[in-house]
Amino acid sequence: MGLGQDSGITTFMSVELRPHHLLCLLTYLGKGYTPAFVENYERVVTRLNAGETITIVSGPDEICHPMLNDPSCHCRNESVAIRDQQALAAVLTCLRLEAITEPFVLAQDDVLRLRRAFQNGDLRAACQGCEWELLCSRIAKNDFRGCRLQPPPKE
Ligand code: SF4
Repeated sequence: MGLGQDSGITTFMSVELRPHHLLCLLTYLGKGYTPAFVENYERVVTRLNAGETITIVSGPDEICHPMLNDPSCHCRNESVAIRDQQALAAVLTCLRLEAITEPFVLAQDDVLRLRRAFQNGDLRAACQGCEWELLCSRIAKNDFRGCRLQPPPKE
């Protein structure tokens, strides 16, 4: 688990993510809905690339945060909650885990395995109906070139 300094007080840090964002992070190229959304997304990816842990949450997470006051925000929709359930099931299968109950580090090997599964379609049930489905397929076909999530290897 990562440690952080804030005004001299040591705090525990972990990136809070809803499950389907574990997929979206695989294809994130540095583009998104608004400049504030992208700025925030970059901060999240930088933390993950530094090896910070992930805590799985249900409902809106740290990536959703800049969109929550937008009238077009879909982050609280039931369809997105279903997307989360589908994504979590696929990620657990891919990473050969029974459950994720504690903060965990998504290491380089995990991302490689998830990207391979994303390319061969095993992770894509959650993507059905997403407006970015074709774009993400193209990014996967292009071997995730330029994607920002590049965490370090396991220690
Ligand atoms: S298709 Fe949609 S849900 Fe799937 S990874 Fe891309 S942005 Fe995320």
